[in-house]
Amino acid sequence: MSATDRPVLLRNGLVLTMDDAHTVLPRADVLVIGDRIAEVGADLPAPEGALEIDATGGIVMPGMVDTHRHMWQTAMRGYGADWTLTQYFVWYYLESGKLFRPEDVYAGNLLAAIEAVDAGVTTTVDWSHGLQTPDHADAAVDALEAVPGRFVLAYGNIQQGPWEWATSPEFRDFHRRRVDGGRLAGFQMAFDVTGDPTFPEKAAFEVARDLGVAVTTHAGVWGATNDDGIRLMHEHGFMTPSTVYVHAATLTHDSYNRIAATGGSVSVSTESEQSAGQGYPPTWQLRHHDIPVSLSMDTSVWWSGDLFSAMRTTLGADRSREHLEAHAKQDTITHCHLRAEQVVEWATRGGARALGMDSSIGALTPGRQADIVLLKNDASPVMFPILHPYGHVAFQAQRGDVHTVLVGGRVVKRDGRLVGVDLAAARARVEATVAHLRDTLGEEAWQRGMNPDIPETKILENPYQYTEWDAGSAQWKH
Ligand SMILES: [Zn+2]
Repeated sequence: MSATDRPVLLRNGLVLTMDDAHTVLPRADVLVIGDRIAEVGADLPAPEGALEIDATGGIVMPGMVDTHRHMWQTAMRGYGADWTLTQYFVWYYLESGKLFRPEDVYAGNLLAAIEAVDAGVTTTVDWSHGLQTPDHADAAVDALEAVPGRFVLAYGNIQQGPWEWATSPEFRDFHRRRVDGGRLAGFQMAFDVTGDPTFPEKAAFEVARDLGVAVTTHAGVWGATNDDGIRLMHEHGFMTPSTVYVHAATLTHDSYNRIAATGGSVSVSTESEQSAGQGYPPTWQLRHHDIPVSLSMDTSVWWSGDLFSAMRTTLGADRSREHLEAHAKQDTITHCHLRAEQVVEWATRGGARALGMDSSIGALTPGRQADIVLLKNDASPVMFPILHPYGHVAFQAQRGDVHTVLVGGRVVKRDGRLVGVDLAAARARVEATVAHLRDTLGEEAWQRGMNPDIPETKILENPYQYTEWDAGSAQWKH
């Protein structure tokens, strides 16, 4: 990633460093030289030729990290707003996912990558489980490399078992061509463990171990993956500190204990878990087990693609559960356990840790990569007063308040506008993909996919009737 030649100096911002002590500097500068943070402090002298950005009235924070996003699905943004997980599986896994050509994966990834950077998500895991052929995989990486953000490719293919694609010579060849010496920020293998007692996924885990690659897996998903998968992974020695368990919602204490004991982390997608049906967003459980957490948004086919929503919904779900558990015991929660500071940490440092990148990103400290977000919007009535900085990030700020973004010292968004990104080209590609899917499926199937039936429900008679209509006299009887 090439940094700008000029040093960059963000002036007079409220700086959330997210360093080990969570130092907050009410008025400070952040100096970037090359691709790294050179200094953080008050009244820093500007090096010659520095680009100065006025951060007055704004919050300067580390770039956010999303550890699980199916970027190829962004080409169908919002299509599945009313889906359940079942409808998602039917559409992508069983019926229509095969229709995606390499150029469609490219289109989705390109738009998702641009969207991530625009929202201050400087590192994103592309949980890319639509890689049916090496051409699809190349297209996925081509798109990620076309956008100036940091992207980790999590390679997957829902059209085959992982024991098939992971052991193929094509996969090895792809790894050699695009990962070793490529421009990706990282590489993972993405597949789920069904709980089949013969543990066919073993072959894929062995490839991951052989390549020294982390595995990311949808775990604890109601009706799909459960404790058996975790147990099999554990018994075969495949649970490691680099393993990322996505959702981990419907699991027993036994599974949480195994995750905690082996040092893995959980990627929580609260917006997703709340409406798709994987299980209750698990942070309230994970906190009890001291399991590291990162945040993710899963897929834009349903939900928003920014981590402000992830932080907000995670706080809400965790607190909601805590209150309800207490109410069930006739108890009252008088102090929230989960704080805004914690979800900001999960959205930054937590993601960096989950990806093994904690020494290079996730905090604003000298020597780290300059992945920086400035939240500032002088035209917004929501950006003042800033009294509780973490609360402001989690509950007040939105993607429209992302004023400036740096990735590896390179300014990729400034004054609320993306820099060096061709949005019109991305739009044309996505429109072509939508047209392809719509034409292939036909209008009726396209509409039916987007608008699932509402099951017939017995409407209860309203027991609270104080009046009754008398048809004979055409009057209300009292
Ligand atoms: Zn997912």
